[in-house]
Amino acid sequence: MAISFDGRVAIVTGAGNGLGRQHALALARRGAKVVVNDLGGSRDGSGASATAAEAVVAEIEAAGGEAIANAASVTDYAAVQAMVDAAMAKWGRVDILVNNAGVLRDKTFAKMELEDFRFVLDVHLMGAVNCTKAVWDIMRGQNYGRIAMTTSSSGLFGNFGQSNYGAAKMALVGLMQTLTIEGAKHDIRVNCLSPTAHTRMTEDLGARLPLELLGPEMVTPGLLYLVSEDAPNRCILGAGAGGFERIYVALTQGAWIAGDDAPEQIAARFAEISDRTGEIIPEMGAAQGFIELTKAQAAQAKA
Ligand code: NAD
Repeated sequence: MAISFDGRVAIVTGAGNGLGRQHALALARRGAKVVVNDLGGSRDGSGASATAAEAVVAEIEAAGGEAIANAASVTDYAAVQAMVDAAMAKWGRVDILVNNAGVLRDKTFAKMELEDFRFVLDVHLMGAVNCTKAVWDIMRGQNYGRIAMTTSSSGLFGNFGQSNYGAAKMALVGLMQTLTIEGAKHDIRVNCLSPTAHTRMTEDLGARLPLELLGPEMVTPGLLYLVSEDAPNRCILGAGAGGFERIYVALTQGAWIAGDDAPEQIAARFAEISDRTGEIIPEMGAAQGFIELTKAQAAQAKA
């Protein structure tokens, strides 16, 4: 079954370079009309230029596709709203949003200025929030929407020197979890992509990696699936070098423990609490409390 985006309108943020550029080119190749957004700044988010987005639009047009360039910063809600208005004016709908724009300001937590922490949160988290907010009512009205967040293994699993970036990237998982619940009845599906690719963002790691295997185009098939008509919902998909993995946030069966010595019992039974046999992936946060109450009621009934 071929995945086609004929008749679909997509917005890809940070699409002037790296992964976003590949996503935009591939969506256009498969029929989508694409808003190519990019602030055109440097890797740390300084500076701005419209040329990165314009170059990708030229590539799409040269291949016979349709695209418009947009140089809004995703951190600027008014500019994001204007970008969405422009897409609506030209094409009348927005089906797909790929939240991909990103920056790095790496430092150990000990050395990190709060300003750099806030800035990275603002671009990754609030950038995705701004873009999602600007298309949300449109997607609700259409009863159709596909949104991808770009998370990272640095947030999911941690990485030295990336407390700001990791916190922002894990926050996007939390955003996805709730949006899937609220968007479900309008067929808005939200997923997270966790990529590994050689781009300017990861160029410092270059010397240690087989770069020929790590082209961003190897990640893009995963993104296309996550925003396709038959997309999953609430999936965190790892993608890099042609490898694809599913990543879960799961809950163990745990144990029921009460009494004055509960802290000591938790310590003594920590292996049992941590045991992953029978772990579940809750469909919403309330499931944790429900499972805890069930354990308490079972203990009560036994007493
Ligand atoms: P990249 O630097 O090549 O691309 C990021 C793009 O975002 C740039 O073109 C930049 O101009 C744009 N951008 C930055 N701030 C913006 C803003 N405020 N508004 C609009 N555009 C803005 O890096 P990349 O590796 O292609 O990264 C793409 C996404 O993938 C990022 O969210 C990044 O955190 C994520 N990611 C990348 C990797 C990897 O291995 N490359 C791993 C995990 C996550």
